[in-house]
Amino acid sequence: MIGILALQGAFEEHGKCFSRLGEKTKEIRQKKDFSDVTALVIPGGESTVISKLLQELDLYEVIRQAINDGMCVFGTCAGMILLGSSIEQHENNSKVVPFSAIEMTVSRNAYGRQLSSFQTRGTFSGEDCEMVFIRGPIAKTVADDVEILSVVDENIVAVRQGNCLATAFHPELTNDLTVHQYFLDMIHEGKK
Ligand code: GLN
Repeated sequence: MIGILALQGAFEEHGKCFSRLGEKTKEIRQKKDFSDVTALVIPGGESTVISKLLQELDLYEVIRQAINDGMCVFGTCAGMILLGSSIEQHENNSKVVPFSAIEMTVSRNAYGRQLSSFQTRGTFSGEDCEMVFIRGPIAKTVADDVEILSVVDENIVAVRQGNCLATAFHPELTNDLTVHQYFLDMIHEGKK
């Protein structure tokens, strides 16, 4: 069963996307919800808030361990920040403890104030895809074995490393199911 981390942010919309693809999900709010989860979505929202709650609810370590053990995980926006291995923080009072799931340096709020939110079409893993950016991050540098799935305006906005997928944009806020379908394919690939 796919779990959707439901501590803060745009988690409900992910559930709707998977449901349109015929896939059941459950919302994860505390440690005991996590026991029967075989794949996880970390939604967009505010990475500092999600990070703090992960620590307070004692969820950080179980999730980190599950990712290390090969569970498929998909992070959007704030979720992408949390999957990074190093974070460039643009607000010095904020602290995010990432999962180091994908070897990349992520720059938070990378678009600055002027162009912070916009909608565009781009290519995701070779497919045309609608993309909504809301104060999104950018992957500044990625390790050699990180697959770059999408580049928009010369910025890396979607990556995959093994069982971990991250997008700087919000596919769940569009009607486009390309990325959610890709994640389901990843999960099924892992089961082969
Ligand atoms: N700017 C947010 C952060 O740094 C991410 C925004 C989003 O998830 N839409 O956590």
